[in-house]
Amino acid sequence: PAPAAVQPLRQFKLDPQSELRVEVLPDATLRVRLVSGTAEIFGTELPPEGWLTIPPRSKIAIFTWHGATVELDGVSESEYTSDETPMVIYVNTHAILDARRARARAAQGGDLEASQGPRVIVVGPTDSGKSTLCKMLLSWAAKLGWKPTYVDLDIGQGSITIPGCISATPIEKPIDIVDGIPLEMPLAYFYGHPNPSINPDVYKALMRELAQTLETQFSGNAESRAAGMVINTMGWVEGLGYELLLNAIEIFKANVVLVLGQEKLWKMLKDAVQSKPNIDVVKLHKSEGVVLRNSKYRQKTRSFRIKEYFYGIANDLAPHSNVVNFSDVSVFRIGSGHQAPRSALPIGAEPVADPTRLVAVNISTDMVHTVLAVSYAKEPDEIISSNVAGFIHVTDVDIQRRS
Ligand code: ATP
Repeated sequence: PAPAAVQPLRQFKLDPQSELRVEVLPDATLRVRLVSGTAEIFGTELPPEGWLTIPPRSKIAIFTWHGATVELDGVSESEYTSDETPMVIYVNTHAILDARRARARAAQGGDLEASQGPRVIVVGPTDSGKSTLCKMLLSWAAKLGWKPTYVDLDIGQGSITIPGCISATPIEKPIDIVDGIPLEMPLAYFYGHPNPSINPDVYKALMRELAQTLETQFSGNAESRAAGMVINTMGWVEGLGYELLLNAIEIFKANVVLVLGQEKLWKMLKDAVQSKPNIDVVKLHKSEGVVLRNSKYRQKTRSFRIKEYFYGIANDLAPHSNVVNFSDVSVFRIGSGHQAPRSALPIGAEPVADPTRLVAVNISTDMVHTVLAVSYAKEPDEIISSNVAGFIHVTDVDIQRRS
């Protein structure tokens, strides 16, 4: 690409309830500074002093409730201000959730149902701003002292650990503008692919495991129980994608469904949960600021997220290499992958693949450049129900040395 043109330092005076939308280039740094007033990026306030370096490729909105002047330094892909945002609706939603948390806290010690805070699930088509709304709801809640649990079911564009995982983590303070979701103690289950249709049974099984673990944690922790959950989902809302959303609502016992930007989905979900009086299905406007991303861009983002896992957002981590013998590791795949050919079966029998079957994998050079999850399982049959400790990147396989 051509070298980016130099852009001088520039100031923006933002009216109350307006935002400055900025897209950061992949290879140029952009810094933001609050000159006066107050402003926030997706629910997290800008510090009153000093420059913030926004990570490459970010697409952000600097929003102000009461008016602010901000300064940008560096080159951007685009920047413009808008006073048409759904922020008032979003913050009102937050206020309702906050009241529910307070009610749950007041009911502590009594009935379990009443002491459960809101379990919010955010749904909508791709690029409707789901992850962004989750961040805002979490950061606003954390600012008030709650410690809500963030659950990310988006295996394609998730924001916790690497793509291909479903995970959860407590949010104890507003999400850092630069570092993103805290990664100290995520609970991650590895699905291993960005597309749920490859093996929906495993996706569902992992959702159940994650939900079960959170349920156990909540039962021993009244504070997180009252703070509740904010659940982010995939942008696939038709067919199997829709079915998985219904599954997620049920498995995580969601009691607030926020539907972004699609009337039809809202209506369908509303009808589907009609018989359950304690689930509210709420329709919310999508922001015009949400940036559309095509599949190529998504693919790239996934690679960057894997890279970020190993090297850090600011390139400040140094992964180390290790040589292990074949005999020291066991590699497994869940799901048999392919079915037995018809010709190998007795006449009349239908080929069936057991989607959750554990298959031992022979280590071969096919494994070079794959990412494997390291399971906490003590025995192979515990793998599907175990969360993962981290990930390794296979850089080389030496068949001769068996290492
Ligand atoms: P998907 O389902 O595809 O993962 P999503 O619905 O979760 O997408 P987001 O990730 O929230 O969508 O938003 C898409 C992109 O738009 C993100 O890069 C986000 O930072 C950016 N974005 C969201 N809202 C705004 C805004 N108001 N101004 C500028 N950029 C925004």
